[in-house]
Amino acid sequence: MTVTPLEPARPASVTDAFLRQLVARVPGSSGATWPLTEVYTGAVLVGLPQSTPIDIEDAFATARAAQRQWAATPVKERLAVFKRAHTIFVDNARTTTDLIQAESGKNRRMAIEETCDPPMVMSHYLKRAAKLLAPVRRGGPVPLLSTSTEIRQPKGVVGIIAPWNFPFATGISDAIPALMAGNAVVLKPDNKTALSPLYGVRMLEEAGLPAGLFQVVCGEGPDVGPTLIDNADYVMFTGSTATGRVIGERAGRNLIGCCLELGGKNPMIVLPDADMADAVQGAVFGVFGNTGQICMHIERIYLPVSRYDEFRAAFVARAKALDVRASYDFGPEMGSLVSVDHLRRVTSHVEDAIAKGATVLCGGRPRPDLGPAFFEPTILEDVTKDMLCGVTETFGPVVALHSYRTVDEAVALANDTDYGLNASVWGKDIAAARAVAARIESGNVNINDILATAYAAKGTPSGGVKNSGVGTRHGDQGLLKYTDVQNMAVLKKQVMGPRPGQDYAKHVEGVLSGLKMMRRTRIR
Ligand code: NAD
Repeated sequence: MTVTPLEPARPASVTDAFLRQLVARVPGSSGATWPLTEVYTGAVLVGLPQSTPIDIEDAFATARAAQRQWAATPVKERLAVFKRAHTIFVDNARTTTDLIQAESGKNRRMAIEETCDPPMVMSHYLKRAAKLLAPVRRGGPVPLLSTSTEIRQPKGVVGIIAPWNFPFATGISDAIPALMAGNAVVLKPDNKTALSPLYGVRMLEEAGLPAGLFQVVCGEGPDVGPTLIDNADYVMFTGSTATGRVIGERAGRNLIGCCLELGGKNPMIVLPDADMADAVQGAVFGVFGNTGQICMHIERIYLPVSRYDEFRAAFVARAKALDVRASYDFGPEMGSLVSVDHLRRVTSHVEDAIAKGATVLCGGRPRPDLGPAFFEPTILEDVTKDMLCGVTETFGPVVALHSYRTVDEAVALANDTDYGLNASVWGKDIAAARAVAARIESGNVNINDILATAYAAKGTPSGGVKNSGVGTRHGDQGLLKYTDVQNMAVLKKQVMGPRPGQDYAKHVEGVLSGLKMMRRTRIR
């Protein structure tokens, strides 16, 4: 079937001249470009320069030179850049939203929400960074005569590899604490979604970030990844579990640290006492928000047998009524998938499930009449573990409903996965819901919410367990991971060895009784 979708008018801010200016900072000495397209129409927006290994090495050299001066800049002055940036980011949120929508095809409601993430991260670390980066004086081994001070040194140049599903949030938000800590950053966004992070870097520079400190290199992952990792002092990666293993292996070989934020197969458990209207509303966002392309979104819903039919009827009715369209206004509740390639993946998961006996309650098909990469909101039943979507992440607007008889069974089913990124538990008795949440093997668990409560809590570390990741973002660790600890120890007078001429056995007696005294006093 050939259908010509109604093409929405591109936002006025997305002009050819503006896009050419944005991509001009990407090094591409070979002259090769990648056709970055508008998802709703498939039209090429701009040719994105592709960085060669030499370009990437040059980007690191420039970043490294700028970093030395940045690290020597007092923390207060570094933070002042982000105070100004906060205002600039909020004032320009609509332009950022235009770029995010054009390059990712998501609906405008999700795109503007995404623009809020870097300002939230800035707000949090503007309050915490100075304290976290200040030297901490600890006790030394010899009371009064010694001290040990914990000093936070920047790692150097941090390599960040970001995915397409939240290009602005992952590309920029993860860079903020790294830069505050005195590092330079070399970012590799996904080719498809390089525009909004490039705009983020431009806004940071407008706020006073020194030129050269934040580099952006572009290219396909396997082409850029090795040179980027080999030149970095630390790698922050967000993406699929399969790629995370490749990144982790290479970082390990280079003996550098890395943080890997990976995929999920996130469960939602509705407890028997849950407020059903709230749970249905939550599921609509959890499954269809960002067209099902949120790492923390829901792909499995577990319902008590007693309330299964009630939930199913209401949820299917809501899914069928969703406003799914290509539009640059706030109307649509769901937008497009990111690309025709990704549409093929989602379609193959659903077709595989149907072929193996799953029942389609609604949706299940691509919608070429809406745009090249649209897929219907899809709810399945009878999904089993021999189906692709029964075990691996689909990353689309597709969910499977399951019933359970006991809460123990629900917890066992929720945990029956290699992933552990996010979970959602719904119930009116919060203590009971907490008890269930505590039994779920997952880095994040939201009670009576899907994901926003955990993700927006910037003071708490957030990351995956099992195959969903290594390390965390947010919280103190989200900044401290970008630093090395220097243990600066001072001994005012050399008293720790035997005195000249002292009998060694006597010295040992002194050391042993000193150990007992240290146990009794507060000295560690
Ligand atoms: P992906 O792993 O294919 O790509 C992510 C990034 O890695 C892209 O920039 C890509 O170009 C790059 N890349 C690919 N192969 C590489 C290689 N060999 N070396 C270096 N870089 C390489 O993932 P994706 O499809 O872009 O993103 C979707 C995935 O990201 C989903 O699995 C989703 O759950 C996950 N995700 C996780 C989080 C989180 O916080 N846990 C957040 C967002 C997305």
